[in-house]
Amino acid sequence: MQAIDREPSPPTTTLGYALFATRWLQAPLYFGLVAAQGVYVYKFFNELWALILRCVTGQATETYVMLAVLKLVDVVMIANLLIMVIVGGYETFVSRIGLQGHRDQPEWLSHVNSNVLKVKLATAIVGISSVHLLQMFVDVHRTSHHSLLWGTVIHMAFIASAAILAYMSGPMAAQTERGHQQTHHEPAPEEPAAKVFVPAQAAPREDEPSAEERLRAAGFPARKLLEDFDSEHPRVFDRETVARLGKLDFVGVGRNVVFVGPPGTGKTHLAVGLGVRACQAGHSVLFASAAQWAARLAGAREAGRLAQELAALDEHPLLIVDEVGYTPFDAETAALFFQLIAHRYERASLIVTSDRPLGRWDEIFGGPSALAMVDRLAHHAELVRIEGDSYRMRRATSAWAD
Ligand code: ADP
Ligand code: MG
Repeated sequence: MQAIDREPSPPTTTLGYALFATRWLQAPLYFGLVAAQGVYVYKFFNELWALILRCVTGQATETYVMLAVLKLVDVVMIANLLIMVIVGGYETFVSRIGLQGHRDQPEWLSHVNSNVLKVKLATAIVGISSVHLLQMFVDVHRTSHHSLLWGTVIHMAFIASAAILAYMSGPMAAQTERGHQQTHHEPAPEEPAAKVFVPAQAAPREDEPSAEERLRAAGFPARKLLEDFDSEHPRVFDRETVARLGKLDFVGVGRNVVFVGPPGTGKTHLAVGLGVRACQAGHSVLFASAAQWAARLAGAREAGRLAQELAALDEHPLLIVDEVGYTPFDAETAALFFQLIAHRYERASLIVTSDRPLGRWDEIFGGPSALAMVDRLAHHAELVRIEGDSYRMRRATSAWAD
C-alpha cells in the first residue's frame, strides 16, 4: 500500500476530500442540460420556420405573428436561463471554468455565488412568466377567465418570491462581506460556503505594492500631473485624445502612445502624467530615456539574457521611452529597440516621446528597420502631435518682460 506510506493524512480530511470530490457527480447533469439547450435550439428554428411559412403563404394574422414572436422570445429566455444554470452552476458547485479576463465573460460570473445565482434565476423566471402572461392577453378571446386569473396570480407569486430572494441576498451578501473583513483580525470559526467560490481577483493582494511604491519604482524624473498641463499653451494640441488617454484604456490592451513635438512643448510632462495615473490605477510603470533603455537592453544582450530581460519587462504593462531621437542610434541599438517594440506588440503598452515626426525616424534608426519599427509602433498607437513654442521659453520671456 504505497499510497498510505506516502500520505499519512488523518482519515477525517480524506473523508472530507472524498465527499468534496463527489461534486463531480454533478458534472454530467450540466452536460445533460447542454443537450436540453440543443432541444430548445431545434424548437426555436421549428417555430421560426413555421412563422416564415405562414407569412410567405399569407396566412399569418397580426395576432398570430405576435404570438409566434412571443413564443420565440420565450424560447430564447428559457435558453438564457439554461446557460445561466449551466455556466453559473458548474462554476459554483463543480469547478472553476477560468473565464476571468475572457472577452465574453458574462458580467455576473465574476461575482457568482449561490445567492446571486438564485436571484438571477428568479428574475429570469419572472421574465418568462411575463412573456407567458402577455401571450394569454394577446390571445384573450381564446383564454379562459380561469387561466387568466391563475396566470396572473402565479406571475405575482413569482415576482414576490424574486423580490424576497433579492432582499434576502442583500443582507446575506453584506454578512459574508463582514465575515470576510473580520477574518483579518480574528479568523471566524466557520466560513460561509458561498464565500469560497467568490473569485479573489477583485480583492487587492496584500503583498501588492502601494500606489506610492509604484510611483517611486517607476523612476519618473519629476511628478508631473495631467491636471497641471495647460492645454491652451500649445498651438496644436488634441485635448480630447489626451483626455481619453487619461482614462488609461490603452494600458494593458497593448496600445501605444506616441507624443511628437518640438522641445519644451510638454511631451515628457504628458508621458509622466499618464504614467502617474497608471501607477495610481494599479499598473506597474517604468520610465527611462531612450538612451537609458538602449544601455539597459545592450547590457542584457551582452550578458546573453536579452530574451529574459524582455520577458521580465512584461511585468510592467506600461513602459515609457522618453526622448527618442535626441541622439541617433547605431544599427545595433536600433535593432534592440526593434526587438523591444516587436516583443511588446499587442501584448503591453509603450509611451514614446520624440521631437521628430514618425516619417523622419529613419534619421534616428537608419534604413529599413526604422520603417518596420514605425509600422509596429504606430499600428496600435495613438499619435499625439503637439505644436507650439517651448513652455520653458515662454516662462523665461514672460518673466523677463515683467
Ligand atoms: P518636452 O518633453 O516636450 O521637451 P517637457 O514636458 O519637458 O517638454 O516640458 C518642459 C517644462 O515645461 C516642464 O517642466 C513641463 O512641466 C512644462 N510644460 C510644458 N508644457 C506645459 C503646459 N502646456 N502646461 C504646463 N506645463 C508645461
Ligand atoms: Mg522631454
